[in-house]
Amino acid sequence: MFNYKNVNLDIIQGDITEIQADAIVNAANNTLLGGGGVDGAIHRKGGKIILEQCKKIGGCPTGEARITTAGNLPSKYVIHTVGPIYKDGNSGEEKFLYNSYYNSLRLVKEYNLKTVVFPSISTGAYKYPIEKAVKVVLKAIKDFIDIENSPEEIIFVLFNENDYLLYKNYFKSELNN
Ligand code: ADP
Repeated sequence: MFNYKNVNLDIIQGDITEIQADAIVNAANNTLLGGGGVDGAIHRKGGKIILEQCKKIGGCPTGEARITTAGNLPSKYVIHTVGPIYKDGNSGEEKFLYNSYYNSLRLVKEYNLKTVVFPSISTGAYKYPIEKAVKVVLKAIKDFIDIENSPEEIIFVLFNENDYLLYKNYFKSELNN
């Protein structure tokens, strides 16, 4: 468990669909109509109400975020954000990834939510190297906390052990607690 300016930062290994929080974040695609990986798992377990709401929203540009209810999932809301597809690292990927985290947190604040869970956006099918991504993640959430002083708790859930250890080591090296 880490801490930045009184915001709890937790890093856990597991399946995001099993976590109870005010909101979980989905690594969606531009259509918001579902896909593989974490997106597929969220829609499968959450049920068709999520897809129905996503259809009404009608898509989401890269780096932005949209919110729906969470259907059968234990959380209250799903925040759908679209991370960048990693090409060469010089195609705006860093800014898009930063925006995905930042804009997700904006919705957390707008809906007065206290806890939010992030998966590792873009580092699966979208091929963003996780050792680069984790730096962008911590920068984005620190910037948000600096300005907005919210939420109360941010949980990062990593699906496999290597990613989990990488996150833990990086946060440990950057946060003095
Ligand atoms: P993207 O298309 O944004 O890269 P993916 O879903 O392909 O999204 O992968 C993002 C990350 O989510 C990967 O590290 C993958 O291992 C992880 N992941 C896949 N399923 C789950 C799940 N049920 N809970 C948490 N993380 C998951």
